[in-house]
Amino acid sequence: MQELAEQYVKLVLAVGQHDPDYVDAFYGPPEWRAAAVKRPLAEIDADAARLLTSLAAAAPPAGGDSLVALRHGYLTRQLDALRTRVAMLGGRRLTFDEESKALYDAVAPHHDAKEFEAILARLEPLLPGHGTLLERYTRFRDAYVIPPARLEATFTAAIEACRRRTLEHVQLPAGESFTVEYVTNKSWSGYNWYQGNYRSLIQVNTDLPIFADRALDLACHEGYPGHHVYNALLEKTLVRDRGWPEFQIYPLFSPQSLIAEGTANYGIDIAFPPADRLKLEREVIFPAAGLDPSGAERYYAVMGLVERLSYAGNDAARLYIDGQIDAAAATAWLERYGLYAPARAQQRVRFVDQYRSYVINYNLGKDMVARYIEARSGADPAKRWAVFTELLSSPRLPSGLAVAGDGGGAVR
Ligand SMILES: [Zn+2]
Repeated sequence: MQELAEQYVKLVLAVGQHDPDYVDAFYGPPEWRAAAVKRPLAEIDADAARLLTSLAAAAPPAGGDSLVALRHGYLTRQLDALRTRVAMLGGRRLTFDEESKALYDAVAPHHDAKEFEAILARLEPLLPGHGTLLERYTRFRDAYVIPPARLEATFTAAIEACRRRTLEHVQLPAGESFTVEYVTNKSWSGYNWYQGNYRSLIQVNTDLPIFADRALDLACHEGYPGHHVYNALLEKTLVRDRGWPEFQIYPLFSPQSLIAEGTANYGIDIAFPPADRLKLEREVIFPAAGLDPSGAERYYAVMGLVERLSYAGNDAARLYIDGQIDAAAATAWLERYGLYAPARAQQRVRFVDQYRSYVINYNLGKDMVARYIEARSGADPAKRWAVFTELLSSPRLPSGLAVAGDGGGAVR
């Protein structure tokens, strides 16, 4: 399997020659990257098909090391996704759901707009005043913007809190660290670029004002116990301890992304369940941002409801990718059902233009990870962290997270 895994890494690098977003991280031998030349897509696909045949012949015997069995299934599925991405680069058109199934091993549920309207109706009495609900929500939220001059101090405080909390439950490799950069002109709000050797570069996009909740969200999602911890644990347990080369590369448009985004978003809640979070926001984050801590409770009551509108973003993206609505209508949908302010709705449509069905990885991914972990740990916080850490250290596929009676990502 080592030889086959190495071929897989080189194929991912070859696809990266056609698609600048594809290779999200690579910290394997530099000469492999240097040797990657732009080869015809059909040739890459034929190599991938041959590699899949060889992999099928190399299936580990049943009842052996469970991590080896996961490795084999994972490599096979990652290669299937690679072939889909190659076909898309060659002009193949897939529907939103076909694409998410092929690339991320999952399909997001469809919703009736009425489900979102019920949540919007619950927000009405929480946001009194004149104007539409979106205008009232936007005005309300504007009072919780972190002043630019306080951004760095606020993020630093959030990162320290997330790291301290994570270290109480997860043994991190010695020497792990990351740097934070503030950037502009991106379609995303934050990004973790894993660099290997237990180091990440985290970028925060300052194109639009950054609200109070984003400090802890980004610190947990991009850092601890999210992407930085996930990548560091994969490097420690699979690359260094096991010597498996395929985990030195991360193709963005692949099932790994659902696990990455789902664990990063679930990581916010596992590190700071609602009561803990409110305490931290009041005592640390709001003061660091120069915001009045007495507003924190109301802010999180509103944001808790708004989060339930996140699936409206998947529905808007599906309609838009499937050509049923245009960019202007997708923007309007996000404003109406997702309560996106106009500039944020436009940024989101740009994100969908670039990443398409990737959007499901955040909310469906989080819900799938939550159900998987909670079905195994119940309410015991220590057990929850243990199952979470194990998931971060193993090559489990999204379809392998399925829980009996799983109804997919319901609006809840
Ligand atoms: Zn992420």
